This record gives sequence, C-alpha cells and structure tokens, in this order.
Amino acid sequence: MIESRCGILCSECSYREAMGCLGCCEVENPFWGSCPVKACCQQKQHEHCGQCGEFPCGLLKQFAYDENEGDGGKRIEQCRRWASLQSTAK
Ligand code: SF4
Ligand code: SF4
Repeated sequence: MIESRCGILCSECSYREAMGCLGCCEVENPFWGSCPVKACCQQKQHEHCGQCGEFPCGLLKQFAYDENEGDGGKRIEQCRRWASLQSTAK
C-alpha cells in the first residue's frame, strides 16, 4: 500500500517511466540524488512520514510546498490517509 516515505504516489509519478525508477521504497537513493526525507524516515524506521511523531515536520513541508517540485501539500494528505487506514486496520 505504501508507495513512498513522503507520501508521493510513485505509481502516478511521470518520472517513474522516464527515469526507470522503481519507486521510493524500492531504491536506495532516488534518481535525483539522495533524499533527506527518505533518509530521515527510514532512519526512524517508519514506513512513511505519517507514522512520525513530528509529522508534518519542517523538512517534509519544505518538500511538499516547494515552488518547483512540490505538490501543494498533497503528499502530506496522502501520509495522513495511509496513517488513518493503518490505524483502522489494527
Ligand atoms: S521525495 Fe524522497 S521520500 Fe519522497 S518519494 Fe522521493 S525519494 Fe521518496
Ligand atoms: S515527518 Fe519529518 S521528522 Fe518525521 S520521518 Fe518524515 S521527514 Fe523525518
């Protein structure tokens, strides 16, 4: 169910095919370099940021609302959705 650490839906990402990316959870580093959100999330052993006590932290918000690469907060909402689906599944 979880497609990324930050809430991006890799299945809907246009870079996926173009860059031959396997998706955030399947790669060690994204094609564009190293991602501090992915690194932080994995270091805390969360599946995604929505499981974090600091969610949504400044770093995640910076990524989500970035003028060029952000999505206006969509990924943060996705993390909330995943977290609530997981809490009802328990
Ligand atoms: S921005 Fe980082 S955490 Fe989000 S999908 Fe890309 S590599 Fe994963
Ligand atoms: S919400 Fe922020 S502090 Fe928490 S795992 Fe994600 S990037 Fe790290």
